[in-house]
Amino acid sequence: MRDVRVDVVVVGSGAGGGTVAQALAPLVAAGMRVLVLERGPRFADTDFDGAETAMASMLYADGGGFLTADGTTTLAFGRAYGGSTVVYTGTSLPAPERVIADWAVPGLGHGDLLARTRRYVAENNVHLLPDEEINENNRLFVEGCRSAGYQAHQFPVNLRGCRGSSLCNLGCPNGAKQGTHKVQLPRAESGGVEVVTRAEVIGIEERAVRVMVGAASPGERGAPSEWEPGGYRIRAEMVVLAAGTMGSPGLLLHSGFGAALPRLGHGFTCHPAFILVGEHEREITNDVGHPKSFYVDRAEEEGFVLETCMYFPFVTAKNLTGMGPEHAAFMEAFPRLQMILVLACDKATPQNRVTVDRAGKTVVYYRYTADTVEKMVAATRASAKIFFAAGARRVHAPPAHPTLLDRDVLAAAPGGLEAELTRRIQARHFQPGRISVSAAHLMGGCGMGRDASDSVTDGWGRVHGHRWLRVADGSLFPDSIEINPYLTIMALADRVAEGIREDMA
Ligand SMILES: Cc1cc2nc3c(=O)[nH]c(=O)nc-3n(C[C@H](O)[C@H](O)[C@H](O)COP(=O)(O)OP(=O)(O)OC[C@H]3O[C@@H](n4cnc5c(N)ncnc54)[C@H](O)[C@@H]3O)c2cc1C
Ligand code: SF4
Repeated sequence: MRDVRVDVVVVGSGAGGGTVAQALAPLVAAGMRVLVLERGPRFADTDFDGAETAMASMLYADGGGFLTADGTTTLAFGRAYGGSTVVYTGTSLPAPERVIADWAVPGLGHGDLLARTRRYVAENNVHLLPDEEINENNRLFVEGCRSAGYQAHQFPVNLRGCRGSSLCNLGCPNGAKQGTHKVQLPRAESGGVEVVTRAEVIGIEERAVRVMVGAASPGERGAPSEWEPGGYRIRAEMVVLAAGTMGSPGLLLHSGFGAALPRLGHGFTCHPAFILVGEHEREITNDVGHPKSFYVDRAEEEGFVLETCMYFPFVTAKNLTGMGPEHAAFMEAFPRLQMILVLACDKATPQNRVTVDRAGKTVVYYRYTADTVEKMVAATRASAKIFFAAGARRVHAPPAHPTLLDRDVLAAAPGGLEAELTRRIQARHFQPGRISVSAAHLMGGCGMGRDASDSVTDGWGRVHGHRWLRVADGSLFPDSIEINPYLTIMALADRVAEGIREDMA
């Protein structure tokens, strides 16, 4: 095991780690050594060829199919230089004020987060797409919302030179998405921060981390590591964990920090989500154009958010329940499908948590509460209304019985379409494991708070009892953010970096 000495080591290079890396570049200018360790490889835009299954295995942990302990939910998170920002869609929303107030983290004010968020909004070129770049899948959503009485908002997105290839979640082949791999990490590196890829941290010690640097397999895409393969021990004045909700709590638990931090791994939430599809009579543009331009925010009132989306064929097939001719017919109708992603704003509960097995592998316990299921049911009913109001003939809705909702059949029912939707879409039809639910907004596990009895860190990401150890990623959220999380993670990571700069000075 080789020994390396640095001033600050950052574990992970996603939304949190990339932000910290850039914000610590002034320390390098002051003569210090800042190192980022990232277990995924560094990819070039040309590596992203859009081949669905190949890209999924290359860019996501477990190919995007990481399963919760009971096998009912898949969790999607990236592993690459840039972390999940390489595969995210780039929708960019600030934290809702009411959520930050509910978190009640001492010293963490919404005004402070908003000011930092604005900095990253500018840096990431966040803007609204012009009307001519909105595809029909999105237009139909807006039309449907208008007729069904829902207010659709346009998503600000962080693009530069988007060419509408709709491949965002498989890595942007055009370099348009402004993830940390495009903005913060290159700036950090040009400021002297070192980034080592294919470097997996396997343990945290007092002011040190142990890391294994891997070699690229023959034919594998992505650049080789900047360091020789093998084991290293990195000693540092400051250790910053930005390995994400699936990485940071697990690393701490595996390294023995759990005994003094009883809240470690707790507070896991994920905005569980599934797609609904509406079949139109004519072809629509769904797989051309930026996929996610509009949303409906009913988080405060009904606990759900609806987003436009475009799932790739394999994922769509997996998400449609059932099999045989009915399933095949829907897949054949792919060019005529309108899609809505339903997200529930789940709440932290004692049973849902991140932990590790004996080998140190992350395990997530996640059960659907009755409250979360009710939110999904309400979201499904709302989506079905929007699809029909937009002109869809049939809707495939997993929590409906039967799952296929035919407009004419529903309209002819004694109570009419709406009453029939309520009757057919019920909580009892939501059967975990039979409905394909996935989540990409992974939050919690190292939640912020007052002291070790209610949290893992304070409002500056300082791990209670260890001033040399910080957390700067989505695991800091004490509860669900109820909106797309990456900008808030960047704002929090910016705060953590500010605290480190002050302490190191
Ligand atoms: C498909 C998809 C679409 C999304 N779309 C949006 C969106 O449009 N808008 C939005 O706001 N959010 C979106 N998100 C969520 C957003 O991307 C994440 O919330 C955010 O990137 C999380 O930031 P993070 O720093 O916590 O973790 P990540 O960005 O996941 O970064 C963690 C990094 O740590 C590395 N790591 C983990 N363990 C180790 C270890 N032991 N050693 C070294 N490195 C390690 C990982 O490889 C990874 O690179 C999306 C997510 C996905 C998966
Ligand atoms: S739609 Fe735009 S941002 Fe998404 S992959 Fe295509 S070019 Fe990149």
